[in-house]
Amino acid sequence: MLVVSNLCVSYGPVAAVKGISFEVDSGELVTIIGANGAGKTTTLNAIMGLVPIVSGNIVLKGNSLAGVPVENRAGMGLSFSPEGRRVFKSLSVIDNLRAGGCTLSRSDFDRRLGSVLEQFPVLRERREQDAGTLSGGEQQMLAIARALMVNPTCLILDEPSLGLAPKIVTKVFEIIAELRASGVTILLVEQNVKKSLAIADRAYVMELGMIVRSGPADELADDQFVHDSYLGTGSRESGNG
Ligand code: ATP
Repeated sequence: MLVVSNLCVSYGPVAAVKGISFEVDSGELVTIIGANGAGKTTTLNAIMGLVPIVSGNIVLKGNSLAGVPVENRAGMGLSFSPEGRRVFKSLSVIDNLRAGGCTLSRSDFDRRLGSVLEQFPVLRERREQDAGTLSGGEQQMLAIARALMVNPTCLILDEPSLGLAPKIVTKVFEIIAELRASGVTILLVEQNVKKSLAIADRAYVMELGMIVRSGPADELADDQFVHDSYLGTGSRESGNG
């Protein structure tokens, strides 16, 4: 579905992503985990075309994304829920979903809206409410729902659990697992290592712009390095899982 090879991204003199390669197969939930500043968001932004790449290849369903403008990538099946949710706060829930589905025909839009509101009943209840008045968890659901409006072949989620209360974090991970079970291919970036590994098929660990570990998620959950770095007491993630 998605193949990233030798990807390098820099911000001026700062090399943020240093030649990483990974892939996401159709129907898989793949997670990229790692500490602050590892280069996870930069990787996703490069896939979406939001930051220029220095070198490397990004291929979606056999088609290179080189030179494809950001606004055309959704039409190729990529959809993105960015870090910090970025819902349109002064617009209603329904208008946020309209924005997500603005490239659809009227009949496709109506069909997708029905399906998305069925998946997220709380959004149906709050459809006329301004997005800025929703709780953090509801805004996250809206951000995911907005990304789902185009019925993506590959859904990219950046830190969906960030800043949410523990109970809501659990709910968000349940929703992601349900999406995976329904057949959506998902690339998930997270700092919540424990919960991500619990729902993912495979995982990549990023540190300082490089992939330092990869494998089936259940094996990485038992990996000593991952445990010591991200899961154990005193790890970079303690208190966040
Ligand atoms: P976080 O979880 O904190 O978002 P991350 O793993 O997503 O971290 P990135 O946000 O991709 O990491 O950042 C990777 C590196 O690139 C960091 O050193 C960061 O300071 C740097 N960086 C990110 N965005 C910019 C920018 N716009 N200009 C300059 N440097 C940047």
